[in-house]
This record gives sequence, C-alpha cells and structure tokens, in this order.
Amino acid sequence: MAEELTYLSIDEARGLLDRRELSCVELTEAHLRRIEAVEDRVKAFITRTPDLALEQARLADDRIRAGNAATFTGIPVALKDVLCTHDAPTTAGSQILREFLPPYDATAVARLRAQGAVFVGKANTDEFAMGSSTENSSFFTTHNPWDLARVPGGSSGGSIAAVAAGEALVGLGSETGGSVRQPAGFCGIVGLKTTYGRISRYGLIAFASSLDQIGPATRSVADCAHLLGAIAGADPRDATSAPEGVPDYRAALTGDIRGLRVGVPREYFEMGLQEGVASATDAALRVLEGLGATLVPISLPSSGMALPVYYIIAPAEASANLARFDGVKYGLSIEQDSLLATYLASRGAGFGPEVKRRIMIGTYALSSGYYDAYYVKAQQVRTLIKQEFDVAFGLGENAAGVDVIVAPTSPTTAFKIGERSDDPLAMYLADVLTIPANLAGIPSVAIPCGFAEGLPVSLQIMGPAFAEERILRVAEAYERATDWATRRPPLDALPVGA
Ligand code: GLN
Repeated sequence: MAEELTYLSIDEARGLLDRRELSCVELTEAHLRRIEAVEDRVKAFITRTPDLALEQARLADDRIRAGNAATFTGIPVALKDVLCTHDAPTTAGSQILREFLPPYDATAVARLRAQGAVFVGKANTDEFAMGSSTENSSFFTTHNPWDLARVPGGSSGGSIAAVAAGEALVGLGSETGGSVRQPAGFCGIVGLKTTYGRISRYGLIAFASSLDQIGPATRSVADCAHLLGAIAGADPRDATSAPEGVPDYRAALTGDIRGLRVGVPREYFEMGLQEGVASATDAALRVLEGLGATLVPISLPSSGMALPVYYIIAPAEASANLARFDGVKYGLSIEQDSLLATYLASRGAGFGPEVKRRIMIGTYALSSGYYDAYYVKAQQVRTLIKQEFDVAFGLGENAAGVDVIVAPTSPTTAFKIGERSDDPLAMYLADVLTIPANLAGIPSVAIPCGFAEGLPVSLQIMGPAFAEERILRVAEAYERATDWATRRPPLDALPVGA
C-alpha cells in the first residue's frame, strides 16, 4: 500500500485527499519512507527536507478541512536544486553554493507553495545544470532506477529519478538544452520543455538566460498538464515571462487527434539512432496514424547545426551569468590579500571542471575579434533554425504546415555511468535531438514510447510557440493508446550499489 501511495496520479491523490480517505501527512509519510528505502541506491536528492515536508503536510490537512484545497494541496514534489527555496539550501550542484540559503523562493516554487504543495527535497543536478547525466554534480551521481549502473540523464536527473522511483508524485526540473526531456526519456517518464517565457525564470539560478526554462517532470501527461497549469503565466519579476493567459491544460486532453498533421523530420532520424530507439519511434508513429493522424515527411535541414550553435550561445551566456559568483556576494569565499586573488581562489576552488570549461569557451567566443566569427554567426544560424520550424508549422508564407513535429527524444537509451564522463563531445551528443526546440523557443514534450534492451525509449512532440495544449493532447492520446506509462522500474529487485 505504501508503495502504491507513491505512484498515485494527481487526480487519484486529489480524490483520496479531498474525500478524507487519506491525509496529507499519511501521503507525505509514505513518500518519506519510500525515500528512506530507495535513496541509498537512487541518490536523487542533494538535500532531503522531511521536517519541512511534514510541516507543509499538516498545514495542507488544515486547509482541506477548511474546504479550500487547490490542485497541489498536500502533493509531494521534488525540486531541482537550481530552484531557489527560502527555507532549504539551494546549491545548483556546485561547491561554490554549497551553503547558500536564498532569501526568496523562485516564482514556480512560490506558486506551488501557495497551493499547499509538500516539498520533499532538493534534487541532484549537474553543476549549474551543465551536463546530460548528473555526473557533473559536485556532490554525487544519481542512478537510473531502471538500471543502477546507468545514468538517469541530466541535468535534471535528480528530480526525474525521484519521480520515476516513487520518491515524489511530481518534480520540477529545468531545461537549457534538453535537461528535462532527455532524463525523462532515460527514466521512462514525461518531461516538458515549454515555450520560452511560458514559465517565469525568477529564482531559477541562471545558466543561459535566452534558453533557460523550468519544466515539469511527471509520470503521466495529465499530471504534467496539472503542474504546468500551476506554475505557468506572467510574472512581474521576470520581464521575459509571457503575458499570454494560462488555459486549462488538463481540460485540453480530449484524446482526439483525428485529422492532425504530424511532421516527421527526416534529419532527426538520420542522427545515428540506436536500433531499438529507431524501431520504437517507428512503432509510435504507427500508433499516431492509427489514432487518425496523418504523417507528413518534412525536412529541417539546419537542425544538424543546432549542437555547435548551442555550444557557442549557452557557454557565452553562462560566462556572463556566472561572473556573479566571485567569493564576495554569496557562496564560497576564500579570502586572500587582494580582491583579484580572492576572486581567483574562490572561483578556482568553487567551480568544477565542466563549469570552468564552459566559462572559458564562452569568454573566448565573446572576446573582441572572435565575437563576430562565433557569437554573431551562432545567433544567425539560431534564427535560421527557428525560421525552419516556423515554415514547417505553416506560420508566415506557407500556410499548409503541420500541427506538431515528432522525433525521438535522444539517439540512445541511458548510457553507463562513467562511459562518457571523460569525453565532453560524446556527452554533448546526448542532446542533439532536444536542443533545436530550445534554440527555437518552442514547446516539446517527451513521453515514454517503449523499451530497447530493457531501457526506456522516448518520443518527443514539438509544437509552435504556445501550443502546449496541442502537444499535450497528442501526448495524452498516445499515452491512452499504449501502456508504457504504467510500467515501473524494477527498483526493489535491484541490489544496493549495482
Ligand atoms: N546537456 C546540455 C548542456 O550540458 C543541456 C543542459 C540543460 O538543458 N541544462 O548544456
């Protein structure tokens, strides 16, 4: 029963809690027990917050008794540790922030808190969200609940593994280049990257500001729709948050995709897909066809440039954003005789190797003489990538576009811990299929679509800006037609430390 409680959907949990058949304290305790039972193997959390969770659960029970429950009242949530929380340390996976207690909550966190959500812990992440496996976390690596010898993906691997392993009902991660969708795919759950600006970035520790978005990590599309609805919408504290109204995403899940035009971009299927990934994706396309959608072959020729473009733009923005960690304002401080020596000592000791690599690449790309050759050129190609999506979606001249575009989320299933950690370029390739949507600023949802050699495979569904309702509708229709979302990792059968 306890394990069953940690695999409830939001709708099921809401029903039990509102009918008072289950208390928020009981639901939270079930999660804290689950965390105790599996965390030595999964290692999803940098900081666990059981006391905070129980206090929030008691308040949530009061609120339900008073008759004013919201969707997330009493729901256990895992928060990626790049989201500021005023009552729990926020490390960004880095030694430079290991003792940082933010003075405020991120807006997404504040909105969940206002609904009475329960925070069970701050989840592991690659340092400053730079990575695809959580191996760049300065604390430890998270393990994939489907195979403990493999990575969960990253950088939001902690939140994703926690949700896959039943340590939280839902989680929040963040994306710059695929960090929610890619780990969601590796761990067999649902991950959403929204339209740039759909969710406020206030209180999300910045990596690359023109790309960063907070994203839901859930076990079903309906849960994803609920979570998005709770955190989306304009925020006066983030000038890049979009003014568009927030629809009822849950209500958009009608199951009907008849007549929908589904674009299948040739280039995405030519990027060295593992055989089992290609076959599972093909089978998923047939399911969509069976539901009444029409498959339309399309071409997005500049997508092949997305990875090199990203690895100029993201490090360039990171080098500027990370200048604030100087050993003076916050975080680790190693005081020396001069200010410059203090900067050098604090940053030298506080940042890990991947972060230093990105700062150096970014500083180089922005330096005079190279700025036009690298940064400006990368921005131009970024525009081309976005324009190709616009044309495919029938925005502008070509009115006969597709409604959504589908592709595999990653070229491979989860790789072994250590397999790529010495080869940054091999690691970067894990995001070759997710990064185009980040550069174009469009939404994309990753959903489970089968297994290859026992490991989850994932399908991503992209749509034009602010078409979250549409991509979630397609995702949920597919989810209903298959049973992938009901599969659970064989965690209890896996040995400790495997
Ligand atoms: N893996 C990519 C990187 O290392 C994307 C990370 C992310 O989306 N935060 O930059």
